[in-house]
Amino acid sequence: MMSETVLEVKDLKTWFFTRRGTVKAVNGVDFVLKRGECLCLVGESGCGKTVTALSILRLFDSPPGRIVGGQVIYKGDDLATCPMQRLREIRGGDIAMVFQNAQSSLNPVFTVGDQIAEQVMVHERVSRREALSRAHALMEEMNIPQPGRALNMYPHQMSGGMKQRAMIAMSLSCSPQILIADEPTTAVDVTIRAQIIHILRELKTRRDMSIIFITHDLSLVKDIGDRAAVVYGGRVVEVAAVEDILKNPAHPYTVGLIDCLPDVSSQDKRLPSIAGNTPNPLEMPSGCPFHPRCSHVMDICRSKMPACANITDVHTVSCYLFGDKNGGIAR
Ligand code: SF4
Repeated sequence: MMSETVLEVKDLKTWFFTRRGTVKAVNGVDFVLKRGECLCLVGESGCGKTVTALSILRLFDSPPGRIVGGQVIYKGDDLATCPMQRLREIRGGDIAMVFQNAQSSLNPVFTVGDQIAEQVMVHERVSRREALSRAHALMEEMNIPQPGRALNMYPHQMSGGMKQRAMIAMSLSCSPQILIADEPTTAVDVTIRAQIIHILRELKTRRDMSIIFITHDLSLVKDIGDRAAVVYGGRVVEVAAVEDILKNPAHPYTVGLIDCLPDVSSQDKRLPSIAGNTPNPLEMPSGCPFHPRCSHVMDICRSKMPACANITDVHTVSCYLFGDKNGGIAR
C-alpha cells in the first residue's frame, strides 16, 4: 500500500544570492512522497534536482543559498524553518542521503567500519561494540564480500562499487524512513550499477522505506521507480507513475527526454538530443522555462508560468497544451 504521505514538499524555493545575480535553482517545487515508494526526480543536469534534495535537509551552503519560500513537511515539522537542533536529529536518523561521489563523501583517514559506527553512535545511545556489530550486519546486507575485512579497510583500499555500497550501508545505519539517493550509480560500471539498483529495490520492500532517487537517466527510472517527477528550470513539470510517464508522456520536455533514450536495435548511429540547452539559472526565461526549446510554444508560454493540470487523478502536468490557457501563474 502506497497511501500514507511521509514527506510533502510545497512550492519550495531555494535561491542563491551571488555577486553575479540571483540563481533561482529551485523555484516552486511541489511533490509528495508516499510510504514504501520510490519517487524518481528526473531531468538534465542543472535543472534543480540535486538542490531540491539538498534543500529537504538544508544541506546547501548558506550563504549564498537560502530557502526563500515554501515548506518541507515531515512528521508535522516544516524542515525549511524548524530549529537546527531538530533538523540535526532528522538528518541521518529519519532521513538519510547517499551522495553521487562516494570517494569524496567518505573520510580517507578513518576505516569504513569506524565511520559507520560513528554515525550510529551520534544518533543512538549504543556502545562502540554494538555499533560495529550493526556496521557488520549492514555490510552483509549490502552483499559486500568478507564484511569483517571490509570494515577494517580505508576508503582508498576499496573499489568504486564497494565504496558506494559502504556509503549506502552508512546511510542505513539508523534505519531511516526516507533515503535520498543522488545519482548513486553515476561513478560505477554497469554491473555494479545493476547490483546497487537491486539492493535499493530490496531495501525499499524489506524495510518499507521511501526513496527519492535522483537521476538524469530515464532507463534507470524504469528499473527502480514507482513514480517519476520530471524537473525542469527548478520546477516539477510532470508527475505520474513510471509506466504511465514512459508510455503516455505529456509535457514536451518529458517527450524529448524519452525520445533521447538510446535504441540499441536502431541502425542509425546518431544519438538524438533535445534542441537547445538548459536555461542559464541567472537568466531564467520568463513564463514557461522550457519555451525557448519547445516546438509547441505559444504566445502565453512566454509571459506566464503554466499552472498544474490533471491529466488523470495521478498524472499531472504543467503545460498550456493541457490546462486552461488563462490559468497560468504570473512569475
Ligand atoms: Fe511548451 Fe508552452 Fe507547454 Fe511550455 S507551456 S512546454 S512552452 S507548450
